[in-house]
Amino acid sequence: MYNPKSMNAEEFIDHQEILDTLEYAEQNKNNLEVIDAILEKAKLRKGLTHREASVLLACDIPEKIQELYALAEQIKKDFYGNRIVIFAPLYLSNYCVNGCLYCPYHLKNKHIPRKKLTQEEVRQEVIALQDMGHKRLAIEAGEDPVNNPIEYILECIHTIYSIKHKNGAIRRVNVNIAATTVENYRKLKEAGIGTYILFQETYHKESYEHLHPTGPKHNYCYHTEAMDRAMEGGIDDVGLGVLFGLELYKYEFAGLLMHAEHLEAVHGVGPHTISVPRVKHADDIDPDQFDNGIDDDTFAKICACIRVAVPYTGMIISTRENQKVREKVLHLGVSQISGGSRTSVGGYTEPEAPHDTEQFDVSDNRTLDEVVRWLMEMGYIPSFCTACYREGRTGDRFMSLCKSGQIQNCCHPNALMTLKEYLMDYAAPETKAIGEKLIQAELENIPKEKVKEICKDHLEKIQQGIRDFRF
Ligand code: SAM
Repeated sequence: MYNPKSMNAEEFIDHQEILDTLEYAEQNKNNLEVIDAILEKAKLRKGLTHREASVLLACDIPEKIQELYALAEQIKKDFYGNRIVIFAPLYLSNYCVNGCLYCPYHLKNKHIPRKKLTQEEVRQEVIALQDMGHKRLAIEAGEDPVNNPIEYILECIHTIYSIKHKNGAIRRVNVNIAATTVENYRKLKEAGIGTYILFQETYHKESYEHLHPTGPKHNYCYHTEAMDRAMEGGIDDVGLGVLFGLELYKYEFAGLLMHAEHLEAVHGVGPHTISVPRVKHADDIDPDQFDNGIDDDTFAKICACIRVAVPYTGMIISTRENQKVREKVLHLGVSQISGGSRTSVGGYTEPEAPHDTEQFDVSDNRTLDEVVRWLMEMGYIPSFCTACYREGRTGDRFMSLCKSGQIQNCCHPNALMTLKEYLMDYAAPETKAIGEKLIQAELENIPKEKVKEICKDHLEKIQQGIRDFRF
């Protein structure tokens, strides 16, 4: 029985409720009265239920889809302005005991070289990332209690935060590791992580069990209930995601929103972010072996529907997608992107080495500087800001600022200041010239006079080489 408040995964992701939702969506996908009412509700910017959003996803009336896209773009502007947060993944280890059929790190893959970074190698990788200009990382590792125990992950986080190279610093470490215990989540929280990210892969239990035939990840409920344990352990920013291509996308979409509703119902705060990865080619993995691949237009529609359904939740796109697709979904609601990414273990210090430990093929191979310039040329402000997390604006405190619109007073100036740091410390001359102009123009858009003065003051200090950045 569907119950969003239940702590049992099979009740808050109730299979029958998803089937009923898909049927309801199918019945109403051409019902203009229903669709208009849902779009009107979406305009209130308070979100939609999984049923309502599923109708929009099913709808294929061109004018209504255009309306949906325009609304998604507007909602994005209202909540996130023109800022795009930048991050990079850092792969720590590809040792893994699971049998995930879509992932090259699966245990039975005997020809992929296994590698785990030493602390010295972590240091080198972080220095390389700092030298690119990154301030925010997402650490990634396979699941292996012997090779990658929680102590190893904690030690790596400690190392990452401790490195201060030139003007560089990693100010926020998000963590994407396998589902674990409340006690381990508490340790991650104590280590100062930002968001805990865990992709559901698929919400369809039967497919989930088929796709994860062996290893601890086989347990659907343990995996699906991980975010509840993370929150019990004190982590209040969690990131959801499904791996599109494994199951029917409409099923996944309803499940994803039901998961968000569950977190809101039980913990009073929904997911901080939602990621939208698609299965990619990788060593030993052919994406065509999965029947549910989605085309770029469907992918864009999913992004727009997520944007209007959960307006306060950040949306993340990785370099699994190429420049063209990234550009399209940036307009439709994506708020965070990675840049200059390597998905191999040690890939930042050995960029020329064969990417034989790569987790998936990267489709956007541009450097971080190229990504920054491209964003600015489209009128976006690349933001390296991590202040919310360091100022304790997490979980429901972040959400209430976001819902009231006040977050603009913090985010806009902070984005400009961190961009200024990037331009001063790392940018190529042409990128710098474009960025300086953009900052000047954007200063005018800062809502409060007092905030504008503080921002000007800080920009001046950054220009002089002072980096006591606290915002
Ligand atoms: N081992 C952890 C876990 O089980 O959640 C960390 C996850 S892994 C390093 C990050 C994510 O990459 C996975 O959750 C999965 O969704 C995604 N992934 C795995 N194989 C992929 C592929 N072939 N193409 C695209 N994404 C893939």
